[in-house]
Amino acid sequence: MKAPFETVVEENTAWLFALVRKHTDRRETAEDLVQEIWIRAFRVYDSYCEDGRLRHWLSRIALNHIRNTVSRAAPCPVSLDVPADGENDPLSTFLSAGASPEEDYLRSELTAEVLAAVAKLPEAQRQVVTFRYLDGLSVEETAKVMQIPKGTVKSKTHYAIDEIRKQLGLEDAVRPEKKKRKGVSIMECKEMYKYLFMYAMGKLPDEIRAAVAEHLKECKVCDDIAAALEKLIPTMVFAEEGVMSHYGIDFFDLNLSYVGVRTPVPDYEERNRLLEEWNGRIPDDQCWFECGHNDLVTTIGTFDNEGNEIDYPVYKTVEKNCRHKAVSMKKVYPDMWLHDCALSTDSPDVWWGITKEDHVYHGSTFNYFGGHVKSAMYVAIPANAKNIRINRGNGVIDCGAFKFAYVDRYVAEDEQLALDFTYTLD
Ligand SMILES: [Zn+2]
Repeated sequence: MKAPFETVVEENTAWLFALVRKHTDRRETAEDLVQEIWIRAFRVYDSYCEDGRLRHWLSRIALNHIRNTVSRAAPCPVSLDVPADGENDPLSTFLSAGASPEEDYLRSELTAEVLAAVAKLPEAQRQVVTFRYLDGLSVEETAKVMQIPKGTVKSKTHYAIDEIRKQLGLEDAVRPEKKKRKGVSIMECKEMYKYLFMYAMGKLPDEIRAAVAEHLKECKVCDDIAAALEKLIPTMVFAEEGVMSHYGIDFFDLNLSYVGVRTPVPDYEERNRLLEEWNGRIPDDQCWFECGHNDLVTTIGTFDNEGNEIDYPVYKTVEKNCRHKAVSMKKVYPDMWLHDCALSTDSPDVWWGITKEDHVYHGSTFNYFGGHVKSAMYVAIPANAKNIRINRGNGVIDCGAFKFAYVDRYVAEDEQLALDFTYTLD
């Protein structure tokens, strides 16, 4: 079992310092070198296979680094420098803070802590942070190296920093604007996401609507999503009454999706009568609305036609699939909508998304309903996307902060709906 990187740092810093001191007379230089070596080791720690020779592995990294650094004319700065486009970033500010010797000491202590927090991030976020903050690459350079859109780099940086902050207990210290203001609690983006589609539909209870509006004033990411959805929604055409209607809107960069299904409910009056009798709570032995999916997706909120949140908890089946069952709801409608918001996992198993090859971005997703349904899928692409080619699908809708590649048509029971497109940037 491989030790967490944090433990490796703890257990080997004194040893590493002694090793480095053999190669330099100056204590300060040695301290800098140790710091840099840890950063290098951290970057490649994934490639280290536990074979009981950790110090052998570390000493190779250390000696290589010392050789390269000492032979350089100018002394090598600790590479935690702030990338130019991250100046106002709290993590950068935090990392670059420290003018007095005490602060420098604190900084070196915290660096191990920061690295430990970085090590706990999901793979893609960890890579982004490593490239941007440890290697000092710009957003653009990171996007190139990782072959992902710039927007993805930004959003992953945003999440990663939030997570690191949380782990270091810095939440409040660096984000005073997130505290209560004017009596309205500004919710975090992830809590906000689930409301954005219904917000754009103009269908949320007043109190929630006000909280969302307040957040949008502070947050460009969410504001862009809401504004684009406001433009997209009037263009969406649903099936006629009595036919199942579906839409899926994917913001792959943010691992965020809005998915809605409308189903005719012929006995809705009877169900509403029962709901009243049961105080909105559906008995355990009854199943009115249910859905299932694999565990790469987490539903974070479900709403009805009018924007009332439905209690639709997830439970795992023995096959580790997720199932949702509505357990309480306000009302049933003759054409009942379940508007879901879901987050997907950063995982190599995900088969949908946008990939990049030779300057061309390639997006693809599909849906299979197993029934007669009008189905539409929209995938958000950057507003500056060019040379958009829809290989399978209907076209592109320009919605300001995003464009949406889309496909929309009726499908039969045995049909799969697919969207497949390419585009370039700049
Ligand atoms: Zn937000």
